Amino acid sequence: MNNSFIELYSDTKTRPSAGMLAAMTAAETGDEQAGEDPTTNRLCGMVAELLGKEAAVFLPSGTMCNQIALAVHCRSGDEIIADETAHIINFEVGGAASIAGAMIRPAPGAHGIFSAEQVANAIRPDVRHMPKSRLVSVEQTSNLGGGTVWPLETLGQVSTVAKDAGLLVHMDGARLMNAVVASGVAAADYAALTDTLWIDLSKGLGCPIGGVLAGSKAFIEEAWFWKQRLGGSMRQSGVIAAAGIYALDHNVDRLAEDHENARVLAEVLHGVDGVSVPLETVQTNIVIVDVSNIGKSAPEISAELLAKGVRMGALDKQRLRAVTHLDVSREGVERAGEIFAEVCAG
Ligand SMILES: *Cc1c(COP(=O)(O)O)cnc(C)c1O
Repeated sequence: MNNSFIELYSDTKTRPSAGMLAAMTAAETGDEQAGEDPTTNRLCGMVAELLGKEAAVFLPSGTMCNQIALAVHCRSGDEIIADETAHIINFEVGGAASIAGAMIRPAPGAHGIFSAEQVANAIRPDVRHMPKSRLVSVEQTSNLGGGTVWPLETLGQVSTVAKDAGLLVHMDGARLMNAVVASGVAAADYAALTDTLWIDLSKGLGCPIGGVLAGSKAFIEEAWFWKQRLGGSMRQSGVIAAAGIYALDHNVDRLAEDHENARVLAEVLHGVDGVSVPLETVQTNIVIVDVSNIGKSAPEISAELLAKGVRMGALDKQRLRAVTHLDVSREGVERAGEIFAEVCAG
């Protein structure tokens, strides 16, 4: 890491490694919009195969993956069921409303994970004066849930209830590969319970940019219209797609290290007087820390941490979030834990 501080703000802060940069420099390129970029085509093929879907499309961001999927699936006025903590509700600038024209009905899940029964309760009856329930969206892992992993069984139950009622299932798989490494369940097994899903390359996988959205051939054809419409079509995107290929080849198994580091950090922080971490939610690379008993607000603690060389964001007045990734070492999280304890004591 060439920052002078220990960066726990997000796994989006990773820098491309020397090996990744070399792969990018060596990439064969062409016009992506015309389907002529061989490296991008290869990346899409790899992700489609990884997820067991017919086709995939490369997009500049995870947000665009979500927004295009929602726009393809929903007609104006339709309703989406998602957890109340979902990224599509909280961090996408109302895109579901403004781009897809859809409403989102929030489900009160447990740490980002809702049940089949909650879905059944949220599905609208088929009457003239109610919105049409169209889609269930799940987030793997749940970001604001603390990096929790959707168990395959729960996802299967949710998917069955959705399908039986004629709804589609979408997965925001920003951190799907973290779930895969933590659970040992294959990505394609989760994917088989969804109609569409995507993975982010620019989070724990360590790429500078990009997400890949996958689904049926017909879905991806529709997705291309939206990609074009939103300005997401690219030209010699092979230089960034090469980073994605490199990441899938080199940066997946190592996510286990990030999970171990998150666990170490969570236990240290939970041991600090007045601090609590819901340890059962620390299943991957995210640690949510409750500081409501410290006598300082989370933003105050965040500022003091930064002054002492640790960057951790405040989620609200009471909670901070730490995210481990390939640019933070075991030594780094141990040091961060010590500094956190000093700040809370001082
Ligand atoms: C980061 C994130 C996104 C958006 O991805 P970007 O590549 O940053 O646009 C969507 N969903 C979840 C759960 C995320 O964590």
